[in-house]
Amino acid sequence: MHSEVKGTRIIRVNPSKPEIKSIRVAADILKKGGTVAFPTETVYGLGADALNPEAVMKIFKAKERPPDNPIIVHISCKEDVKRLTAEVPEKVTKLTERFWPGPLTIVLKASKIVPRVTTGGLDTVAIRMPSHKVAFALISESGVPIAAPSANLAGRPSPTIAEHVIEDLAGRIDLILDAGPTSVGVESTVIDMTMNPPVILRPGGTTSEELRKVLGRIRLHPSVRARREIKIERAPSPGMKYRHYAPKAEVILVEGELDAVIRKVQEIADEYIREGKSVGILTFDENKSAYNQVVVKSLGSRVDLKAAAKNVFSLLREFDRDGVEVIMAEGMPERGLGLAIMNRLRKASGYRIVKT
Ligand code: AMP
Ligand code: MG
Repeated sequence: MHSEVKGTRIIRVNPSKPEIKSIRVAADILKKGGTVAFPTETVYGLGADALNPEAVMKIFKAKERPPDNPIIVHISCKEDVKRLTAEVPEKVTKLTERFWPGPLTIVLKASKIVPRVTTGGLDTVAIRMPSHKVAFALISESGVPIAAPSANLAGRPSPTIAEHVIEDLAGRIDLILDAGPTSVGVESTVIDMTMNPPVILRPGGTTSEELRKVLGRIRLHPSVRARREIKIERAPSPGMKYRHYAPKAEVILVEGELDAVIRKVQEIADEYIREGKSVGILTFDENKSAYNQVVVKSLGSRVDLKAAAKNVFSLLREFDRDGVEVIMAEGMPERGLGLAIMNRLRKASGYRIVKT
């Protein structure tokens, strides 16, 4: 099915069996230096030919992304790592064997063929091989590595359905491939393999526990668990220094022991309600009934962080649609995917965090 919003074409594709005709339309746009939003297993990405600086510039413009925030390069064949990089440490092969295709991005020394616009001026390049069938087909068919950050306006929650992309980018990009909701819901884990031990720069869809099993010792960059903004000059991954994932509503994150968290969320919510504000609560199935008089949305069961990761960005945008002014979010343990979800919620809150 084809449609158009503000001049941006939208084509529906089958997520498990992408129609080759539609993939070719998208690949042709990419080969000619255009921009295409497409689903990956993490979130929707906004793609352009990674080796064409003018094409990559269009991504920065469409997203209003600061030019020093580098873009992940997506490939469909492991061989491509060689031509995109200057140096590949031995451990990288173990990583790609275990985690590719999948939600893991690897930072390596860049080769000369990677334009500096793509790397935000850095001498490293971030590479990932996605597993989503549509992403995979699109990259293979276009025959070039695809630079693709999340397909949202800079600073907004990442898009997990095509409607989020339309909301932010219709009229700014050439095409959107709509294959329904993404499965992981948070972005890829970014690991810097130019360092020894390797450093996780951004927690994401591949857990640090899984990475440790393969790599042994790894470090978490302080920003991964930061409860306040880290100083700009100390950010090795420029994406770290910008406000991120933020809905229009103010977000307040409450962290601590479960019972205390519920009490605190209710208490702060009540204060805002007294001030006449419209309040929303981001919670879990098990705690839903603890709250009343407010818009309550559940991430799923507390024991199913996969569901929470899948739902978190979508729910933040839904609160905006419901006209909520203040979102109170419950914290969760930073185990498994909890590390990535807490990282996103802390940033979405602009580090307005209440510890109980
Ligand atoms: P996104 O735009 O949402 O896909 O985010 C991409 C993330 O990868 C950002 O946090 C970037 O800062 C990070 N990134 C991309 N390339 C590099 C690189 N060469 N070195 C360090 N971080 C990178
Ligand atoms: Mg992003």
